[in-house]
Amino acid sequence: MKKRALVTGSSRGIGAATARALAADGWEVNINYFRSEKEALALGQELGARVFRADVADPAQVQAMFDEMGPVELLVNNAGIAHEGLITDITDEEWQRIFAVNVGGVFNCIRAALPHMIHEKHGIIINTSSVLMKAGGSCEASYTATKGAIEGLTKSLARELGPSGIRVNAVAPGVIETDMLNCFTREELDAVAENAAMGRNGLPEDVAKVTAMLASDACQFVTGAIINVDGGNIL
Ligand code: NAP
Repeated sequence: MKKRALVTGSSRGIGAATARALAADGWEVNINYFRSEKEALALGQELGARVFRADVADPAQVQAMFDEMGPVELLVNNAGIAHEGLITDITDEEWQRIFAVNVGGVFNCIRAALPHMIHEKHGIIINTSSVLMKAGGSCEASYTATKGAIEGLTKSLARELGPSGIRVNAVAPGVIETDMLNCFTREELDAVAENAAMGRNGLPEDVAKVTAMLASDACQFVTGAIINVDGGNIL
């Protein structure tokens, strides 16, 4: 029987590439989306995967998704939103929303996934940080703060859940060319590519392959790790 995985926010970008990479590795992948129904359904059809609409920020929607989907052995917390702007300009609603999705969403999914993992004494959780967490990013303070929370959660849960046979790791992507970066021009993206030792920005597949490796038995003794996937942007 195939091992079952959930990739949150897998209608587009890094999440969609991750769903494809895990399916290629033999996982039964479940797709989650919030707004991009057309893309999610198309990916579900491509992979023969089930597709679930849930706003990860809403604990009730997350629990309903798990109730319908059933338990998973692998949870990839990929769903996330960004916010660009001066700290003095961010509204209360924007601040609360980015934490509700990027941090609350991870908590909601982990809480729903854990009872089965703890019962089985086996599970794999992969969270999504950002190299901005280490470098800092002007006009990206709220987003970076959420990723700081993710790294703290990852390390603490690695300790808390290790005795239950559950591994908790995170990927920290650098500049990956997805819709999230649509606010930048081509020229701006080409300019930041020069910051990476490898001289290019990343593709969603670059992150997906590392997530698939972290999910594999090759990483059976890896927990609490935050893996930069940034072409050498932060060294
Ligand atoms: P993206 O192209 O904007 O895709 C974001 C995904 O998250 C979409 O599938 C979206 O689904 C989903 N999502 C957003 N809000 C959601 C919610 N409330 N509930 C469920 N799903 C939700 O972004 P990406 O670049 O692939 O980013 C994926 C992850 O990598 C994020 O955690 C991001 O912070 C992180 N990251 C990205 C970069 C980068 O350079 N791209 C760098 C570092 C870290 P719908 O469209 O269906 O709503």
